[in-house]
Amino acid sequence: MKRIKAKRPGQRLDPESYGQLRKQILQRDGWRCQVCGSRKDLQVHHKQLRSQQGSDDDLNLITLCAGCHEALHRPCFISFRSNQ
Ligand SMILES: [Zn+2]
Ligand SMILES: [Zn+2]
Repeated sequence: MKRIKAKRPGQRLDPESYGQLRKQILQRDGWRCQVCGSRKDLQVHHKQLRSQQGSDDDLNLITLCAGCHEALHRPCFISFRSNQ
């Protein structure tokens, strides 16, 4: 017997609205990573994960560069050094 899972009643934004929200956050943060100040590869991070009831509210969103963002999602921060 097949069961179709009901979609969760969360308020997920459609891609278009999310894109606009993202732009809004980037603008608010001055198009800079809020950790290191970089202007490259900016991404928007949910401070509280959506899976933990984090909302798409702008208070829950922050601008980070790809590097800082990735580091933040790692269980522990390891800085790699190239072999010399
Ligand atoms: Zn950064
Ligand atoms: Zn993130």
